[in-house]
Amino acid sequence: MPVLILKQGREKSLLRRHPWIFSGAIHHADEDIASGSTVDLLSFNKQFLARASYSPQSQIRARVWTFEDEIIDKEFFRKRIRATIAARSATLPSPLTLLPLGDGDAIRLIYAESDYIPGLIVDRYNDVLVMQCLTAGAEYWKETFADLLLEETGLKIIYERSDADVRELEGLLPRSGVIRNSIIRESDDGQGFESRLTNIVITENNLQFNVNLQSGHKTGFYLDQRKNRLRVRELAKDKDVLDCFCYTGGFTVNALAGGAKSVISVDSSADALTLAQENIALNNLPADKATFIEGDVFQILRKFRDENRSFDMIILDPPKFAPTAAQAERAARGYKDINLLAFKLLRAGGILVTFSCSGGIDAGLFQKIIAGASLDAGVEAQIIEHVSQGADHPVSLHFPEGAYLKGLICLRR
Ligand code: SAH
Repeated sequence: MPVLILKQGREKSLLRRHPWIFSGAIHHADEDIASGSTVDLLSFNKQFLARASYSPQSQIRARVWTFEDEIIDKEFFRKRIRATIAARSATLPSPLTLLPLGDGDAIRLIYAESDYIPGLIVDRYNDVLVMQCLTAGAEYWKETFADLLLEETGLKIIYERSDADVRELEGLLPRSGVIRNSIIRESDDGQGFESRLTNIVITENNLQFNVNLQSGHKTGFYLDQRKNRLRVRELAKDKDVLDCFCYTGGFTVNALAGGAKSVISVDSSADALTLAQENIALNNLPADKATFIEGDVFQILRKFRDENRSFDMIILDPPKFAPTAAQAERAARGYKDINLLAFKLLRAGGILVTFSCSGGIDAGLFQKIIAGASLDAGVEAQIIEHVSQGADHPVSLHFPEGAYLKGLICLRR
C-alpha cells in the first residue's frame, strides 16, 4: 500500500475524524500513486491513522475511507452503502428501497462525506438513480459504486451527472450519461428512454414535479428544500406570494397548493419557468393565480419597490453566492441587497422565507446579514423559525462543511 506521511502535528484533524488531508500537511508521498487509488495515512512517527483515496491534483490531497485497518474493496463499500440506506429508512417516512414507490419518492440516498463516502452523491428520482462522482477517489470506484447501487436498491437505471464544476479541481473532466440500464437497451427504444430521463415525475409531500435529469440543476431538483416547501404550503393560505429564484416552481407549487391568493414567480432561466408552469398543471392547481417573470431578481425587486408593490409572503432562495469563505464579503452584499428590498416589499404581518446555500457563509453570519437588512429597510421583524436542509442531507459531526443550507422564516411586525 502506498503511503502518505504527514508533517509533525498535522494528524490532529484526523484524530478528530475530519476526513480531509490538505497538500500542505504532507511531509512525504510515495511516487507515482495513481489518481483515486488507496493510500495509508501515517503520522510523522509512522503510526497508522487512516486509509484514504489519493487526489494528486487537488488541494484536498486525500479523503479518508476508513480510520480502521480494513481492506477497501467492493464489500467495504457495500457495507457503507447499505448502512446509509438503512439510516435513511430510519429517519424518513417511507420505505425507500421498496417498489412500488409511494410519497417522497425523490430523495438523497447518499450524501458524500456526510455519509462517510467522500465524493459520492446519489439521488433517487422515482425509479431512476442519479449518481455524481465528484472526486478522484469516487471516480476510481465509479463502476463498483454503480454495480452496488443496483444490487442494494433493486432499481435498474442509473444516470450519471458527474458534471459539477468541482471535478475540475480534481483534474477530472465532466461526464454525464446513462451508466447502468438493465430495463431496456437504448437501441431498442432510444427515444422513449430519453424522454423518461428528461421528463421524470417525482412525488414530494403529495405533490408531483416534472424533473429533467439531463439538464436540471445539480442532479435535477433541489431535494434539500423538501420540508421547507411543505412549511411554505402551511403558511401560504390567502397570501399574495412572491417566489424569487423559483427554478422549476418548488415553492410556487406548494404556495398554490396551500391556498395562496396569488403567486408571482421570478427566475432568470426560461427553461426553468416553462417547467414550473408544467408543474402547476401537473397538480391541477389554478394557473390563473400564477404569474411568471423571466428576469434578474435584483432588478425586479427594485422595480417592484419603485412601483410601491407589496406582498404577504416573499421567498428568497438564491443560488450559491459564496461557494467558499473567500467570496463571503461580496456574497454578503448580495444577500443584504435582496433581503433589504424584500423587507421593504413586505406588508405588516408578512412573512419572509430567506435562504443561503453558500458554504462560505455560516448560520451566524447569515442571521447578522438579515438583521442588517431589516435595520436598513427600517423594518421590525422577528425570526419565527430557523430552517435547514432535510434529513436526507445529514451532517456528520466530524464534517461541519456538510451543513450548507440555512434559512430564516421571519415575521414583519
Ligand atoms: N427555489 C428553487 C431553487 C432555486 S435555485 C426550488 O425550490 O427548486 C436558484 C435559481 O436562481 C435557479 O433557478 C437560477 O436559474 C436562478 N437565478 C440565478 N441567478 C438569478 C438572478 N440574478 N435572477 C433571477 N434568477 C436567478
